[in-house]
Amino acid sequence: MTEPLIYDLGAPGRRAVRMPESDVPLTEIPALMVRDELNLPEVSEIDVVRHYTRLSGLNHSIDKGFYPLGSCTMKYNPRINEDVARLPGFAGIHPLQDEETIQGALFLTFVLQEWLKEIGGFSGASLQPAAGAHGEFAGILMMRAYHLDRGDTKRSKILIPDSAHGTNPASTTMSGLQVVEIPSDERGNVDLESLRAACDDTVVGLMITNPNTLGLFEEQIEAVVRLIQNCGGLVYGDGANMNALLGVARPGELGFDVMHYNLHKTFGTPHGGGGPGSGPVGVSERLIPFLPGPIVETTQPGEGNDWEERPHHRLVMPEKSIGRMTAFYGQFSVLVRAYTYIRMHGPEGMRRIAEHAVLNANYLQALVSKIFPIPFGNRACMHEFVAEGKVEGSDVRALDIAKRLMDFGFHPPTNYFPLIVHEALMIEPTETESKQTLDRFARALADIAREAVQDPDSLFTAPHSTPIARLDEVKAAKDLVICRWGQSE
Ligand SMILES: *Cc1c(COP(=O)(O)O)cnc(C)c1O
Repeated sequence: MTEPLIYDLGAPGRRAVRMPESDVPLTEIPALMVRDELNLPEVSEIDVVRHYTRLSGLNHSIDKGFYPLGSCTMKYNPRINEDVARLPGFAGIHPLQDEETIQGALFLTFVLQEWLKEIGGFSGASLQPAAGAHGEFAGILMMRAYHLDRGDTKRSKILIPDSAHGTNPASTTMSGLQVVEIPSDERGNVDLESLRAACDDTVVGLMITNPNTLGLFEEQIEAVVRLIQNCGGLVYGDGANMNALLGVARPGELGFDVMHYNLHKTFGTPHGGGGPGSGPVGVSERLIPFLPGPIVETTQPGEGNDWEERPHHRLVMPEKSIGRMTAFYGQFSVLVRAYTYIRMHGPEGMRRIAEHAVLNANYLQALVSKIFPIPFGNRACMHEFVAEGKVEGSDVRALDIAKRLMDFGFHPPTNYFPLIVHEALMIEPTETESKQTLDRFARALADIAREAVQDPDSLFTAPHSTPIARLDEVKAAKDLVICRWGQSE
């Protein structure tokens, strides 16, 4: 039996709220702003509550079940983050308030900057960018500004390995620079010969995702960094995969000049549905003047941890700043959640996050390797791994396997990415899942692989248990039809 949709629930004249009598003079709304073709439902409060409660359960979410979407770090978001973000002192402040009245918020911002510097091994940080890709864009603009500031005007290329995340070439192109793709070698590392051949005095820098999108740590990272530095380039690290490195390795110490963090992945703040995210950048000494601003400075550095006690903070624009990335101070409520997350875990906890993320991924990789081929599976993975969605004796594809997983109550892994693996299924369990969940997931994959041979149609026509059956994904994106909030077609 299908539940009634909101249009069926409504009736003419039904109301959820009654407005008070107006105590200000009435005025005409300009005709231009009034539409009468809108057919809006007329409903009571409980109709609305039931409608949205029903909708909230239709989608899969991390709160409903396992979400091994590779390269997205869909970890559990602790509820204490939400409690702290809702404290009136944080939730109620206005971005135009005087600095003197928001010292607590500036303190939190300052401390988070300091922690991110510490975690990544960087000398400066800005919390301005509002997403990972936004941080990449900021980083590329800083690298470009750095060369131009030195009068080095012939540099126009960014080298990007083919194992990079798709946003890397996109942000480079948006900045007006040219992308040069560098192939991977047979172990999944950057091919050093190709990199050497591409290095010259027209290179702005390298943009590298480490661990890369195969979930592999770049084994020759020091040689890679040296090659780039030798031709005068800078190194951009895509830090979205910091879940694997927290408390273990610091990219700044490897010679990276700039890196973005994804607070909404690594640092336990919610994401999905387009945001809100946050993509702060950490930088080496030479890029500090170019940081997007404003950033927070303390005017009383004090001794040791003294700045934690009674500091005074102010907003400053770095000397040669590339400018603002957002209208005000970044995604403040996300910053509060990330602060809470780091404070709750402490330095030891940070390291345990990475250890468990890597342990979980390797455990699952070992289970999955008995079911599907794993192209680079002859080495330990970091926080994620990529399997090939192929089954001998069947012509099912990765997409069919991904769709069928939904019937087992799991969100599908990322599929058809990275492009260097055909029929890619990119799986990231994260550290917050139990062994029992990982076992259950592997059993579902094994069942699906069996079905692929015995009853392939159940895969081709999957999913069967979701509110909407399989979509034509291209048509759904190009010819989007949204039923008016829940109205049947
Ligand atoms: C998610 C991700 C990004 C982009 O981050 P957004 O916040 O989605 O813009 C970039 N690189 C890698 C490796 C990622 O996983």
